[in-house]
Amino acid sequence: MLAPDQPVLRDIVLIGGGHSHVGVLRRFGMHPVPGVRLSVICSDTHTPYSGMLPGYIAGHYSYDEVHIDLSRLARFAGARLFRDDALGLDRGAGKVLCRNRPPVPYDYLSINIGSTPQMSNVAGAAEYAVPVKPINGFNQRWQLLLERVRRHAGATRIAVVGGGAGGVELALAMQYRLRRELHAAGRNPDELRFHLLTSDPVILPTHNASVRRAFERVLAERGVALHCSADVNAVSATRLQTTSGDSVDADEIVWVTRAGGAPWLRATGLALDADGFIQVSDTLQTLTDPRVFAAGDIASMVNHPREKAGVFAVRQGPPLAENLRRAVEGRALKPYCPQRRWLALISTGDRYAVASRGALGFQGAWVWRWKDWIDRRFMRKFGEFPQMEAGTASTAPSSVQLGEEEAAQALSAVAMRCGGCGAKVGATVLSRALGALHPVDRDDVLIGLHAPDDAAVVRVPPGKAMVHTVDFFRAFIDDPYIFGKVAANHALGDIYAMGAEAQSATAIVTVPAGLEAKQEDLLFQMMSGAIEVLNDANCALVGGHTGEGRELALGFAVNGLVDEDMTSVMRKSGMRPGDVLILTKPIGTGTLFAAHALLKARGRWIDAALVSMCQSNRLGAQCLREYGATACTDLTGFGLLGHLVEMTRPSGVDSELNLSALPVLEGAEETAAAGILSSLQPANVRLRRALRNQQDALSHPRYALIFDPQTAGGLLASIPPERAKACLAALHALGYAQASIIGRVLPQGEALEPIVLKLG
Ligand SMILES: Cc1cc2nc3c(=O)[nH]c(=O)nc-3n(C[C@H](O)[C@H](O)[C@H](O)COP(=O)(O)OP(=O)(O)OC[C@H]3O[C@@H](n4cnc5c(N)ncnc54)[C@H](O)[C@@H]3O)c2cc1C
Repeated sequence: MLAPDQPVLRDIVLIGGGHSHVGVLRRFGMHPVPGVRLSVICSDTHTPYSGMLPGYIAGHYSYDEVHIDLSRLARFAGARLFRDDALGLDRGAGKVLCRNRPPVPYDYLSINIGSTPQMSNVAGAAEYAVPVKPINGFNQRWQLLLERVRRHAGATRIAVVGGGAGGVELALAMQYRLRRELHAAGRNPDELRFHLLTSDPVILPTHNASVRRAFERVLAERGVALHCSADVNAVSATRLQTTSGDSVDADEIVWVTRAGGAPWLRATGLALDADGFIQVSDTLQTLTDPRVFAAGDIASMVNHPREKAGVFAVRQGPPLAENLRRAVEGRALKPYCPQRRWLALISTGDRYAVASRGALGFQGAWVWRWKDWIDRRFMRKFGEFPQMEAGTASTAPSSVQLGEEEAAQALSAVAMRCGGCGAKVGATVLSRALGALHPVDRDDVLIGLHAPDDAAVVRVPPGKAMVHTVDFFRAFIDDPYIFGKVAANHALGDIYAMGAEAQSATAIVTVPAGLEAKQEDLLFQMMSGAIEVLNDANCALVGGHTGEGRELALGFAVNGLVDEDMTSVMRKSGMRPGDVLILTKPIGTGTLFAAHALLKARGRWIDAALVSMCQSNRLGAQCLREYGATACTDLTGFGLLGHLVEMTRPSGVDSELNLSALPVLEGAEETAAAGILSSLQPANVRLRRALRNQQDALSHPRYALIFDPQTAGGLLASIPPERAKACLAALHALGYAQASIIGRVLPQGEALEPIVLKLG
């Protein structure tokens, strides 16, 4: 993570990646405000665009066509993406409380989290119905429903509850798709029975009569049974009950009724309306707290009540961005008034749509094509980014409004950067950041962070020998908490690969110069992640050094313990001909993060890579030892081939590497095929001279990946052949889902090159 030339002066935190926030991110990406940092906390990396959701359900669009990749968008905007659920606010301290990470501080906050189904007042609904909202989770629920219908023998009855545009559109889209699915499976599509229930006397109550008639006709033609004035008050596994005593039998129930605000908002003290939505003024500021804004479904504009629709959320993006910018600059905010009438293009599932605006209504296949054109154009804005001129914004003076003390700190941060001198971070910043952390206590730590001194003193227990290792690297992601975890995990990798137990660690940190409060939080977030991992390893953080530098970077010197007689040590040099090669984690981090930097990686690839990087090698190492590993190493910067050569040479053996058997992170083959490779790759490729049949392998899709440098990679071990299968099964059971047998150890041959690639 390269620090901007301006130190961070203000933090704008966005909760939720809804339709308004994606607009805010794009605008800040196009026109950054020097000194202002955006952070997005979102439950998902891929956020759905509601307008295309019915088309996705109907099967007209792929997942990626209807989802905005927040990871790429945030990267374009220079924003940090924290993938997590916000669960509350500490407004006094100006912090967002999250499910899985330390609180995130804000100077200004905006909430765009959509709505939550209100099912608690209908008995059985939460248990038996599939809610459409929140729409971000609907895809998973829809996939499960699809699978159930595919497996369900005989007639399937599906009830959609909710007669608004969402319910009608969804019922028709589902019917279209499911009929085709059954047909493709050689089954009779007429086995499907659809019911649409609404508590209102008519469907589409907010639309004009001609639009209503058009849909009543379509529903009738398509055999969807319409139940108006049907107020569902109870649901069971196979039946819906209405207040008038009627019932409808159903195998699947989909809930698309009016939703409310997320329950956690009630504890925030923000003024909410009767449905739990946040009340906002014309400036989109909450009525309670001018530092907190809200937009989209979750916001209720007290002076301009409107229907809950994605179109309003989209339209609120620009005024929200403008007012957030004005707020940090201390300028007057601009009032915003949403339009009264809006164009709704409601589809019938079969590439046909009805347009509705005020009293107007028209329809046709061309309306669907028009809608498709509008929607695709909208989505392109969030998938194709303009080339920004590097450095244009960051050199401009900041327009952020600062207090006197802050202005002095900002000046000195800039001066420090110009001078290029490294310096220690202030003692108060350090002690405050570290004071909130709790490294594990160990009896063998005689002087550590609990009683800080010039250096730590740690006892080596009798019968033990000490293992030392050090690693240090700069942040390659914008999330300091996750970076802290990965850095600690990476450093511990060497200890585990040796078969050692981690004992103590000292940290070396650089943080960019900036306001004390911002530096303190950065340190706190990063070290929280690191200490979680070290504590998990029962490794005591006993000291460290923190300085200012251009980039955020973190490393650890870690000490571990092995039995003095060295019997438990796993060295690189013990490979024996006949052994089987096992790799515990997938490869591909180098190419994926190179692609991430270029906005070429999909968010879910990066998510999966980070999960893999955060997985500890501790249990894997224990397992490999138990199954008699003859040699072991952890995969890091030299890549798979480099580390394998480091094992074969001292072992006096050759080995065969099966390219098709390599476990590879999702997306890595694509990014490598696109020629996007880590800056370390060329140095690693020099080792191709160790390959006996390099020419044959050049066109193999995984060839480039054997040189790919790894961060916090898995363990590569040689295992006696008779125990390899059981070892692999044990690794899978321990959670190393992609652990694989990737080759075998051969006796040393005549050839100079020790490695043969198996291509089949
Ligand atoms: C089937 C269907 C079709 C629809 N079609 C249309 C249409 O064609 N046109 C239209 O205008 N409207 C349509 N709507 C309405 C539309 O879905 C909503 O009005 C719209 O999604 C609201 O957008 P939003 O930005 O407020 O929130 P959302 O789009 O719901 O986004 C909320 C975001 O917040 C995140 N989030 C939620 N909770 C948290 C948390 N605690 N912490 C962190 N992140 C969180 C989610 O992951 C998500 O990224 C449709 C609705 C349905 C059900």
